[in-house]
Amino acid sequence: MIDLRAKPVLEIRRQALRDRVAARVASGHRPPKLCVILVGDHPASQIYVSRKEKMAGLVGFDRETIRFPGSATPEQVRLRVSALNADPSVDGILIQRPLPPAFDEKEVCLWVDPEKDVDCLHPENVGLLLTGNPRFLPCTPGGILLLLDHYGLTVSGKTACVIGRSLIVGKPLAALLLSRNASVIQIHRQTPDPASLCKLADFVFVAAGSQGLLKRDWIRPGAVVVDVGIHRLPDGRITGDVDAMSVGDSPSALTPVPGGVGPMTIQVLLENTFTSSIGKR
Ligand code: ADP
Repeated sequence: MIDLRAKPVLEIRRQALRDRVAARVASGHRPPKLCVILVGDHPASQIYVSRKEKMAGLVGFDRETIRFPGSATPEQVRLRVSALNADPSVDGILIQRPLPPAFDEKEVCLWVDPEKDVDCLHPENVGLLLTGNPRFLPCTPGGILLLLDHYGLTVSGKTACVIGRSLIVGKPLAALLLSRNASVIQIHRQTPDPASLCKLADFVFVAAGSQGLLKRDWIRPGAVVVDVGIHRLPDGRITGDVDAMSVGDSPSALTPVPGGVGPMTIQVLLENTFTSSIGKR
């Protein structure tokens, strides 16, 4: 079974990005700048945000994390985002999810200027993706495709099953796979017999946010399995949506958790921010 680790892919892509940033700075431009907004003290979000900040630093970006208390009002945060939209030194803005319940997720997607929406959540950017002319790659789905490309795994002409239909993973992933000429099956909570549909697939992408959901009897032997889940066990270990004990050696390739999809997601975020900075001073 091939272990689809992010590390070798990142070694290449991070160096390439670092070189492109250095070349731009050497030719008199400022470094790209990423701003991350964090509302409240969700423990996993704290870790994700500090990782994004660290990775942005590693490739030579300017970066800023703007923290609001969990009691901040949507209007306070929206005004800050508006100021970042108008700030010419900012190339990318990301609002870390999940947000406190007072925030309306759909409305928040409209706040970031589409040209700085490096998380690819604004309806304009989702529309550009669906119409085959993407401005930015959605971070997690884009990271998954970079990973598959690196390991020479091609979805074209194959059957792909996406488990989950979230705005951030399932929906854009299905769109990207379709644009790569896969035949896509999408499974969600209302799907009556998910295991039998999933078994049809050559590629299985599980993004259900449900620990250990994917068992051996869901997959066809030899399928490529991509695990998008991240869960912390009571003993502190990190695990995914795949039940690793159950699937055993049935897949031909599997992404590890941690060290698979997660780090790739950050790489795409940084590449999007670099793309956004091009053409600006
Ligand atoms: P993520 O952001 O990682 O995609 P979310 O929790 O936002 O996770 O979304 C979970 C998605 O997974 C939803 O679209 C839901 O329909 C799907 N899902 C959750 N549990 C199951 C399940 N047991 N079987 C099939 N789909 C599921």
